[in-house]
Amino acid sequence: MAVLVTGGAGYIGSHTAVALHDAGYKVVIVDNFVNSSPKAIEAVRALTSPGLAFVEADLLDSGAVRQLFAQHQIDEVIHFAAHKAVGESADQPLRYYRNNLGSTLGLVEAMAEHGVTKLVFSSSCTVYGQPATVPVTEAAPTGAESPYGWTKYMSEQILRDAAAVSDLDVVLLRYFNPVGAHESGTIGEDPNGIPNNLVPYVMQVAIGRLEKLRVFGDDYDTPDGTAIRDYIHVVDLAEGHVAALAALASMDGCPAVNLGTGVGSTVLDVVNAAADAVGSPIPHEIVERRLGDIEKIYADAALARDLLGWETRRDLTEMMRDHWNWQRKNPQGFAT
Ligand code: UDP
Repeated sequence: MAVLVTGGAGYIGSHTAVALHDAGYKVVIVDNFVNSSPKAIEAVRALTSPGLAFVEADLLDSGAVRQLFAQHQIDEVIHFAAHKAVGESADQPLRYYRNNLGSTLGLVEAMAEHGVTKLVFSSSCTVYGQPATVPVTEAAPTGAESPYGWTKYMSEQILRDAAAVSDLDVVLLRYFNPVGAHESGTIGEDPNGIPNNLVPYVMQVAIGRLEKLRVFGDDYDTPDGTAIRDYIHVVDLAEGHVAALAALASMDGCPAVNLGTGVGSTVLDVVNAAADAVGSPIPHEIVERRLGDIEKIYADAALARDLLGWETRRDLTEMMRDHWNWQRKNPQGFAT
């Protein structure tokens, strides 16, 4: 089976391309490098096959997308490509809506024209906002708090509507907080500028690129007062996509499925696990809460187990070990 991976030069896409190859799939990557590096494709090819197919194209370019489907055998699609910075989306909402919704629409139209009916879509636990109860199940109310979040919410709805009246079968995967890296340390997360996310920030402090972590708030209703997230190893997440494709073969409709560990960790849990991995303390200070932050969210992972036959295998220690290994070997990310 041949799988088109959109955004396959990105953090989750590159790890998924490797997991698909390891599971015996033929992979075609499309990416426009708007937020990723050609070096990621070189690294994926080194981990898989030098001949792994790659097309540089923008999914908003409908001619290029048609050509892609005409020139490559594609049986199934995993759609990662999207802008993903929450703060930036608030400043540039139209750019986010045009890119994230336009690319999804164009992709689904091209799939229909070419008779491709299986799609795995990258969604996010951001659609749950501040959940009323944790662990959060897929039945919890959804909404959004940023244009980025709305693009995920709206894309889910677009795909549900399309699936209801066509042959299209979709799994909507709602990711929790992906961290870690491939054990080789040759692919990993490479944020632009100063990282917004906790673990990339912690690792840049550890490597000496940033001075100290600011912990946003220690007065939450949690065991140590810092906020709780469900961190998931990116290789577990990648394997979740392989499981979702396999499940799609015998699945109808458009279920949403959480991909998380089901375990909540506080910011200080992460800081301590990172310090153990690095072998020295992570300088940090407590500051005010970050505006709009969620107090506590982690997944109910039961549906993924039941529907996809998948569960995570890697814990916070392994996440920090592998993220640090990537950071240590690539202090400047792919620009190293
Ligand atoms: N966080 C922090 N300092 C930072 C970045 C993040 O204390 O420099 C905290 C943040 O407030 C949240 C957790 O780490 O409680 C995870 O933040 P991240 O942005 O990685 O994920 P998200 O909040 O989008 O789930």
